[in-house]
Amino acid sequence: VEFILGLPKAELHAHLNGCVGMEVLFELADEFVEGIGFEQSSLKRLESFSIDDIGEFFKVFGVIYGLVSTREALGRVTRGVLGGFLGEVGEESESESECTYLELRTTPRRLGSSSAEEYLETVLEEVERYPKEKAGLIVSVDRRMGVATENESEGGITVEEVVNLAIELKKQGRRVVGVDVCGDPRSGDMELLKPFMGKVREVGLGLTVHIAEIPGSVSGDTQHLLSFTPDRIGHGTFLSEKEKEIVLERRIPVEVCLSSNIICKTVPDLASHHIRYYLERDHPIVLCTDDTLPFRTSLTAEYALLLAKSPFGLGLSREEVRRVAEWSLEVRFGGR
Ligand code: IMP
Repeated sequence: VEFILGLPKAELHAHLNGCVGMEVLFELADEFVEGIGFEQSSLKRLESFSIDDIGEFFKVFGVIYGLVSTREALGRVTRGVLGGFLGEVGEESESESECTYLELRTTPRRLGSSSAEEYLETVLEEVERYPKEKAGLIVSVDRRMGVATENESEGGITVEEVVNLAIELKKQGRRVVGVDVCGDPRSGDMELLKPFMGKVREVGLGLTVHIAEIPGSVSGDTQHLLSFTPDRIGHGTFLSEKEKEIVLERRIPVEVCLSSNIICKTVPDLASHHIRYYLERDHPIVLCTDDTLPFRTSLTAEYALLLAKSPFGLGLSREEVRRVAEWSLEVRFGGR
């Protein structure tokens, strides 16, 4: 563990609401239970959560969103997540924190009467308590969102609104370093997102996309996502041989989340994980947690999977693990 903790490294694929601590959720439930009648039993379910397919997984977030439902609660959980990865502000110890640099990502949503912009303001206030060499924010677009504001009748947040907000905040010098496309891989039409992702790249924000997370997803989906020319890709579990060649040729770094893939059963075991394909080709990968709460993991635990001998891990040497850690810093969007 000392070896892993002592490695300078970046966590680049962590969803804010998927990394909230159980303790703070119980605190929020206690505070809200009388006010809104929140059922403690739904939290208990979260603690002993198990899933049979990735669709089940997305239901987890309903419980978390029910509790993280005010700006105050959002600020509190964000502070907790940042502290968990980096240590408290000013007290970060390089040899004890999970990572030396964090790119946290989150999807803006309305909290009561608060706007998407206020959501991002609240998260940014916490992120910006750390120096820019330590923390940045990736703004996530959810595949389930409507695309453009004029087509959206229900007043929901749209891709256009989120992308414009990310660009505006960057222009104001706020700590937004990139945009992500996430959410249930069975939803949305990625072709419609292309003009918005073009804008993201034009202003110099990093672009990362969840891609080929499940087999045979929406037709043409992967090709559309690759056509956005992302700077990094998340998962990439079911890329075809041809698509993998594009990733290799363009040297697009792959964000790898081992526990997430195993628990969501998109990969049967570590021995057959696609991380091997990229490692064998000396292609940059970044080891990440995805969602520490449902996957009950940490960045240290994910790195331990690299070092542990088969069948518990991949049995990499210390030198190889060090290389993985170096890649994570090389391919970060911000932090310089
Ligand atoms: P948030 O963006 O901070 O609210 O974090 C939770 C959200 O991240 C979820 O509602 C999903 O949309 C997204 N997310 C978390 N894990 C995954 C994943 O493995 N694949 C795709 N989207 C994900």
